Amino acid sequence: DGGHVTADMVDALVKRHAPMCMRNLHETLQDKGHLRHYGRLQYNSFLKDVGLPVEEALLFWRRSFRGMSDDKFNKEYKYNIRYGYGLEGKRINFPAKNCINIITQDQPGPQDNHGCPFRHFSPANLSSALISQYGLNFAEQSEILQAVKSGHYHVGCTRLFEITHRKQGVKKGDGLGEGESVSHPNRYFERSWSLVK
Ligand code: SF4
Repeated sequence: DGGHVTADMVDALVKRHAPMCMRNLHETLQDKGHLRHYGRLQYNSFLKDVGLPVEEALLFWRRSFRGMSDDKFNKEYKYNIRYGYGLEGKRINFPAKNCINIITQDQPGPQDNHGCPFRHFSPANLSSALISQYGLNFAEQSEILQAVKSGHYHVGCTRLFEITHRKQGVKKGDGLGEGESVSHPNRYFERSWSLVK
């Protein structure tokens, strides 16, 4: 796969179709001009499986890391981006992580932005992101906060998908289609994109 998505398309596609975990990484990268190690890993493999070819990925990351010399980028970052595509070292083409892995592995510290917002954001931050970034009303955000409080992170994510895809005809209980709940960020993205194609 690959070859359909270019560096120029990433911003609009991610803002429109990516789940909260990836949108959070994207927005942090755009705001700060940088992402820490595990965030880069999580976002790079997501973009790879979205279909961003390695040359476009290098262009995307090079542009996103503002204020960095080409020399530093080439020495310190290029290898890891290519490694994520299975083009360096052991040449393993790692698939993008699923939700269980993102939720349970490599717990983010206070400076980190990787992980799952439903699991790793404080309730106050999650609530304000749902209202201010996604435009949810109070009842909708409290339904999601309730699911998260019971440890059903994927239920919160699935409900957010349903609410934000109402205009595409998605109803409560539909999930990603036929009631499927979110178990992988790339499935969320693919389903969202397919609804507008
Ligand atoms: Fe991302 Fe999965 Fe968390 Fe949704 S449930 S935000 S897709 S890790």
